[in-house]
Amino acid sequence: MNVYDSARMTDVLRPLGYAPVDAPEAADMVILNTCHIRERAAEKVFSELGRLRKIGEERKAAGLGKTVIAVAGCVAQAEGEEILARAPYVDIVLGPQTYHRLPEMVARAARAGGAVIDTDFPVETKFDFLPNAAAPQTEGNLTAFLTIQEGCDKFCSFCVVPYTRGAETSRSVASVIAEAQRMAASGVREITLLGQNVNAYHGDDGEGGSATLAGLAGNLALIPGLERIRYTTSHPRDVDQSLIDAHRDNAALMPFLHLPVQSGSDKILKAMNRGHTAQEYREVVRRLREARPDLALSSDFIVGHPGETEEDFEATMQLIRDIGFAQAFSFKYSPRPGTPAAGQPFQVDEAVKDERLQKLQALLREQQDAFNADMVGRTLPVLFTGRGRKPGQLSGRSPYLQPVHVEGPDELIGQIAQVAITQRLTNSLAGTLIRERACA
Ligand code: SAH
Ligand code: SF4
Repeated sequence: MNVYDSARMTDVLRPLGYAPVDAPEAADMVILNTCHIRERAAEKVFSELGRLRKIGEERKAAGLGKTVIAVAGCVAQAEGEEILARAPYVDIVLGPQTYHRLPEMVARAARAGGAVIDTDFPVETKFDFLPNAAAPQTEGNLTAFLTIQEGCDKFCSFCVVPYTRGAETSRSVASVIAEAQRMAASGVREITLLGQNVNAYHGDDGEGGSATLAGLAGNLALIPGLERIRYTTSHPRDVDQSLIDAHRDNAALMPFLHLPVQSGSDKILKAMNRGHTAQEYREVVRRLREARPDLALSSDFIVGHPGETEEDFEATMQLIRDIGFAQAFSFKYSPRPGTPAAGQPFQVDEAVKDERLQKLQALLREQQDAFNADMVGRTLPVLFTGRGRKPGQLSGRSPYLQPVHVEGPDELIGQIAQVAITQRLTNSLAGTLIRERACA
């Protein structure tokens, strides 16, 4: 989501004459778009700021004028005052819900001595004030992110999102469709719909009601040129029957789903306030796989949540063995200020967390390797996004987001073609085109 937000900040600053540059040394203004989800991400901000300060001083000494430094995103939201105390050379601090006001902040920062800080949760939604999104700069403009939902009301014990991103809100169907249409017209073939809880989507349908994610995906699938739809991150509690049916009926929905479970222990799931049991997660996965047998899953795991015993950890390992994941992100529990879990007794030792994380990651890596190895001999539809490293080579992505390389003509860039997978390389797959005619 920060990638999407950064692109939209660029859009909002473009009319002022700003354009992106590759390195901070070349920038009149640097915006650090930050993440607060784990301690390490937040700490990085201060070391980056120190580096930017030096660059600013060097630029000033070289007669290049002042470098404006802005801190955006969730660290700014949560620790705005602390940033200004620890790094008083910062000019602008802005939260994730106020970046449509950036032009005004830039003007105020130029006028005023002292920093400009805006970490409101405004009544207005930024999406009504942002200019149209420019064509994405990634993968030859063929794939793009699109935020449809933000914030969270679930208050998991460990998580800062409800405090930094604010209450759960959804963009209207009309606004999402219009943005997706513009993306498709500019060449985008694959869209990833974003939200902290994307399947809690309930955007205004323009007819006095609200749409579901499944309904929205159905509308998006009708947009000419838009071939593939993904969504992330979804919550097991919000997987409703309409979404399961959509995985069966909507061919544009990719059969790869990120569905975080965090833990396989009911006791820990309860302590986490996740609102479901391990069995309920298994059941949701069973129904999804029944609807779409080639569905692959990815997930998030936390080891060492307060109160997690060896037995709880073993329940997580068992859930992983039972379900089988194609990919996963796993983390040591990181206490976040202001969240209920941070103040709980029975915090787990760092060394124990380390040990559990290693075991968990070894198992997940095994499963990921097996999943990728299993692709050899299969035929996959690949969206070609550009040339490969070697001459005559194309690179693309499979439905499961695996990079795929084949020998093929440039005309296939931007198209989907069937590929017979012949080899599994370290981080990608190699194959041969089984027909050069593009197919949907
Ligand atoms: N809304 C999504 C997750 C968003 S945060 C969901 O509910 O599943 C992304 C991931 O970061 C989480 O799934 C979790 O695994 C991890 N995470 C969040 N807070 C954390 C913390 N305090 N310590 C360690 N990992 C954390
Ligand atoms: Fe955080 Fe996700 Fe829980 Fe919301 S549902 S509080 S975003 S982990």
